[in-house]
Amino acid sequence: MSEIENCPKAIEALLEKQKVKGFLPFNEAELLHRVASDAAKLGSLLEVGTYCGRSAVYLGQAAKACNQVLYTVDHHRGSEEHQLGEGYHDPDLYDGVIGRVDTLPELRKNLYLCGVEEVVIPIVAKSENLAKHWTTPLAFIFIDGGHSEVQATADCLGWVENLHPEGVMAIHDIYETPEEGGQAPLRALETLLSTHPLTIIKRQGSLVILKRLS
Ligand code: SAH
Ligand code: MG
Repeated sequence: MSEIENCPKAIEALLEKQKVKGFLPFNEAELLHRVASDAAKLGSLLEVGTYCGRSAVYLGQAAKACNQVLYTVDHHRGSEEHQLGEGYHDPDLYDGVIGRVDTLPELRKNLYLCGVEEVVIPIVAKSENLAKHWTTPLAFIFIDGGHSEVQATADCLGWVENLHPEGVMAIHDIYETPEEGGQAPLRALETLLSTHPLTIIKRQGSLVILKRLS
């Protein structure tokens, strides 16, 4: 296990060295880490969509610097696009015995190898089920789970209720046009903005950062 510096370039180098699989370009990771580092002064962080832990290592380091923790939720059965025969299927992350995707063993290995086991708390659950029972206020919420409009909307609306008054929400995979990417997360964001007093404060690539209107 290694101790890493809490700096995006050092974290990215470690993720590359340990061959951590995932879906978060460096320019987005940098902004995510910066915003989370600031929010962690207020309380704990939560992520929806752990996969193999790429974003969780960034967020875990941000939490650690403020003596906070990151809760990270995933059923570890993969999104639609990760299933057998789909575009983002990875045979290394498939449990042939039960015939299901399983990203949990890979996540546990990565959290160990990246030195964030103490600060990243994985929760194996369907996000919408956990959101119904959650009561702890969250300083930072990162939505990066299922990409259907129903799921993305349930995640945005289900988790925003737990946002600390001064907290920050981040949503991934927001594309303005269908040529750039799927439109379901954008539709979910629009629903969130039309039902809650939030505003976009920053963007980088497909990452959008929101705060309560003051
Ligand atoms: N943040 C990751 C990528 C997440 S990919 C990274 O940095 O690499 C999206 C993840 O959301 C998948 O692992 C999938 O299993 C999970 N997911 C999809 N729908 C979900 C749901 N309803 N509840 C919990 N997790 C879900
Ligand atoms: Mg994503």
